[in-house]
Amino acid sequence: MNDSFARQVDYLRISITDRCNERCLYCMPEGYKGWQRTQDHLKAEEIVRIVGVAARLGFRKFRLTGGEPLLRGDILEIVSGMKSIPGVETIGLSTNGTKLAKWAQPLRTAGIRTANVSLDALDPGVYHEVTGGDVNAVIAGIDAAVAAGLERVKLNCVLMRGVNEHEIWPLVLFAAERNLPLRFIELMPLTRTDVLTDKNFFPVGEAIQRLGEHDELIPQPDTRIGHGPAKYFLLKNTGALVGFIGALTNLHFCEACNKMRLTADGKIRPCLGDHGEIDLRPALNSATSETLLHETFLEALRQKPLEHLFRSQYQPLRPMTAIGG
Ligand code: SAM
Repeated sequence: MNDSFARQVDYLRISITDRCNERCLYCMPEGYKGWQRTQDHLKAEEIVRIVGVAARLGFRKFRLTGGEPLLRGDILEIVSGMKSIPGVETIGLSTNGTKLAKWAQPLRTAGIRTANVSLDALDPGVYHEVTGGDVNAVIAGIDAAVAAGLERVKLNCVLMRGVNEHEIWPLVLFAAERNLPLRFIELMPLTRTDVLTDKNFFPVGEAIQRLGEHDELIPQPDTRIGHGPAKYFLLKNTGALVGFIGALTNLHFCEACNKMRLTADGKIRPCLGDHGEIDLRPALNSATSETLLHETFLEALRQKPLEHLFRSQYQPLRPMTAIGG
């Protein structure tokens, strides 16, 4: 499927809950009260139906996210339902990793092939400051995902100046030791506005400079790991493969965008950084639901904008946890 700007869109990120057991500063800080009603969340069977329509339209890559997707008790049912759909090539998971130690193997068996794990710091105190959680549980989860034989486990770190900038190099060493790709992500305006200050923003260009003080960075222009927008470098001495997601500073960021999002409450969101959403509920509840779902997806594709509005006074009406990361 091509959008109005001839970009091929074949990647659907599906949020299965807006709930999370962490409280990341950049996503859903402590005190957040805008919860969706769980009865408004798509049911497992509805998600599988929607994926069936998406796959018939040409979507091939799917990722379950949230909130924290592992808080959803029926995640295995969702994954195995999706896996049985012709055209579904890969199902990935984005997780904070805190529950992966228990879930990695059953998820792998059900059909999860890859996992992106958020790891914003290694220092337990810094990790707790950013997320409210326990980094040791995450490390156990990462090791369990590798042991379970997932094809790829990637690490994600959202950069915040004065918060976790000193964790950049320790994270690189951790990733190199385990031979896992690591991505540094610029803070996007998807959280409380008091967190979104210029002071907190840390551009990926500066992270690249910092790494250059420790190692030689060899650009990997042809490397595309998974389906994301990161620009990769190989670090000559450590051997780490490090990607940078410069959503704010990279002016070409949206040129190869291949994805749309489905929120836990059933809205298609053609672009993360644009408030436009289309409700799938009327189509789901209709007698001719397949046709209507099909048409709604096509409408969402038509509405996919050329680029995000993060650089244009974008206001976070919904935080990341409510959209799905
Ligand atoms: N709970 C899971 C996790 O921690 O990965 C999945 C959901 S989380 C919203 C998915 C991804 O979104 C994470 O990699 C996180 O780092 C990223 N993210 C969340 N808020 C962000 C923000 N304001 N700017 C940039 N990335 C953000």
